[in-house]
This record gives sequence, C-alpha cells and structure tokens, in this order.
Amino acid sequence: MVISVPKEIMEGENRVAVTPDVAGKLIKKGFEVQVESNAGLNAGFTDEEYTNAGAKVLGDVQELYSNADIILKVQRPMEHPATGKHEIEMMKSGTMLITFMYALHYPQVAKQCAEKGIDVISMDMIPRTTLAQKMDALSSQANIAGYKSVIMTANVLGKIFPLMMTAAGTIQPAKVVIMGAGVAGLQALGTARRLGAIVEVSDIRPQVKEEVQSLGGRFIEVETDEDMQDEGGYAKEASEEFLRKQKELIFKHITQADIVITTALVPGKKAPVLVTEEMVKNMRPGSVVLDMAVEFGGNCELSEKGKTVKKYNVTIIGEPNLPSLVPTNASEMYAKNLLALLEHISKEGKMELDMEDEIVQGALICHNSEIINERIKSLLT
Ligand code: NAD
Repeated sequence: MVISVPKEIMEGENRVAVTPDVAGKLIKKGFEVQVESNAGLNAGFTDEEYTNAGAKVLGDVQELYSNADIILKVQRPMEHPATGKHEIEMMKSGTMLITFMYALHYPQVAKQCAEKGIDVISMDMIPRTTLAQKMDALSSQANIAGYKSVIMTANVLGKIFPLMMTAAGTIQPAKVVIMGAGVAGLQALGTARRLGAIVEVSDIRPQVKEEVQSLGGRFIEVETDEDMQDEGGYAKEASEEFLRKQKELIFKHITQADIVITTALVPGKKAPVLVTEEMVKNMRPGSVVLDMAVEFGGNCELSEKGKTVKKYNVTIIGEPNLPSLVPTNASEMYAKNLLALLEHISKEGKMELDMEDEIVQGALICHNSEIINERIKSLLT
C-alpha cells in the first residue's frame, strides 16, 4: 500500500506527520512511502533524508494525493493554497486518512470525508488505554505543549524563576499557577519547578492531587460532592455552581501569580472560562497569562487566538498550536504514534481493520462512506 505524506498547509503548522526515520521503518514493514517535496523542512527534515530512507519525494501534490492508499497528516484537511482545491477533493475514494480531525469540534469536515468515501482515523479519538499508549498522540503533543508554555511565558516575564541569593540582594522565586493537571499541565508543572518557580495547580478532578504534589506542586482544591471524572478519566463538564466556587477560590491565587498557564479542556465541549477579565484586571503589572485552550474557546476571557495581547498591563498569549513551535520533537513523537497505530492495524504492508478492536472502534470515525461515530453523527442531525 502507498502511504502519502503531504506538507501541512494550515497556517503556522510546522510539523510533519512522518519523519525520515519512521518513513524507513514503514518501508521495512512493506509500505511504499511518498512524501511531498519540502514536507519536513520546517521540522528540520530534508528531502534528501527522506530519499535516503527509501521514500519517494514528489513535487506534484495532486499526484501525491491521488495515488495514495493511506494519507498521514497532522491537521484536518482544508483548501489547498497552491491548487485552490480542497484536500478532500484531491483524495480518491477509498483512501484512509489518519490525522488530528477534532471532528467533535469540526463535524462538517468528517461529513465531507464520508461523502467522498474517505475512511478516517482521528488521532484525537485514540482511547487512553494502556494498549494504546504508544499511539496516544494527544499525550505526546500535550507534553511538548506543556514544556513550551513555560518557556514562552518565562521569556516574556520580567523576572527570573528561581530564588537567588546574591550580594546584591535576594530574589524571590516566581509564582506560577497552572489550571488543569492533564498531560500538558503536569508537564508545565515539572518544567516550571525545574526552573525554580513555586507552582500551584488547580483541577476539577481531585484524583490528580497526589500527582501534583509528587511533582512538587501545591494543589488548589475546590471542595465538592460532585463526581468530576468520567469512566475514561476525563473531566466532566462542571456545573455552574462548581465553576462559581472555583472562581472565588482561585481569584486570590491568580491575582498573586506572576504566570498563569491554563490547560483546562473538557473533550468535545467549549473550554470552561476560568480566568475572568476581573481577575486579569487585578493581576500584577508585568504578569503573563498563556491560554492553551484558546483553540477551543479559551480559558481566559481576554485571550485572542493566534495573538499575544497586552491588557491591564498583563501579557496574554493566545498561541493555538504550541507543539508546532517545537516541530522537530513534536513530529518525531507524532510519527512514532502513527507508526505504532499502523503496526496495530496492518500486516505486511496491508491494512487489516478489525472492527471489534477497541482502538479501531474508538478512533475510526468514517468508514464505507458513512460517519460511524455516534457522537459525531449526533452533531450533524
Ligand atoms: P485534557 O487536555 O482533556 O484536559 C486538561 C485538564 O483540564 C484535565 O486534567 C481536566 O480535568 C482539567 N479541567 C477541565 N475542566 C477544568 C476546570 N474547570 N478547572 C480546572 N481544570 C479543569 O486532559 P488530558 O491531558 O488529555 O488528560 C485527561 C485524563 O486522561 C487525565 O486523567 C490523564 O492522566 C488521562 N490520560 C490517560 C492516559 C492513559 O491511560 N493511557 C493517557 C493520557 C492521559
């Protein structure tokens, strides 16, 4: 089977779905690999490296799409700036597209794929099970995002992170508040601690308290009788009452912080607003907010997607795609996730989808010209 790897076309996307190393491994598994010319360049991988790994480098995008059996991408398909055609239009019926589709947020794109007869495995729908851990691209990319969020905010802050005792006086450590202790939040916590900051973390799932403490963070706990976690370990949508209580409690912590990093998401839902305008108004001048949830509605009332703005003397970073700012490592990890998935669903270079398999059941969203995921289907009716 032929695997095609296009150059990503979403603005600001520097990652590539397959690295030369993984291309070589896929070829050893029996696949043919075609890569669009310069597909890996922004992530630091040259055409020559892909060629040396045994892949074919193609300049003609239409050819790349139309002779593919499997297309590996990072972002959902969209209109191609070079050809003026939608990427879906360029794919042939029966192709398997594997990418971050985020179909719960963009159900129409899934619908267009189904109508064109394109099968879709969505990397954001891979179940968070032990077996699927190697394919868990949400986690691999969230780890990178968590790290980068700290580096970006540290760079803007007019202070250093660690306690420093010098002849010229003692510098107090920076105070970082992290909202959401999922994969990204915990990585941000670890990174900020390593740089010497004092870190406080809030999450609606009390189950994460021990993890936060073991990484050297202080847990801001909202007392509640509500069960905040579903069977999958994800946050449930919090009640109005809970969010009100949480806002009251975190007001003091946020307004005393130098840096606030928000990572709070509820899968398939708009992100909860946690940092209000009133809080930002009361933050110290020079402090920094980074809203990692900006792509899905934002955790901060004042963040703007794709922009860094200054409001009430607070810098608010609304970068929607942090992994893309660390494109080499993010691509390496994502490519390994894809390789693990393909090893799971293929044999000797041929796709063998087991419809009873829980990973296939979770992540295959379009099949045989239909949307087969009930949640996505319900969004379209
Ligand atoms: P996520 O990106 O969906 O959300 C980030 C965090 O925001 C979560 O911890 C969530 O509880 C929190 N949140 C939601 N609403 C909030 C609010 N109002 N205030 C504060 N925090 C709020 O989460 P994720 O990183 O994808 O991880 C979700 C869960 O899945 C975690 O328990 C994680 O440990 C688990 N997980 C399991 C595996 C595995 O078993 N293989 C792999 C990855 C993640």
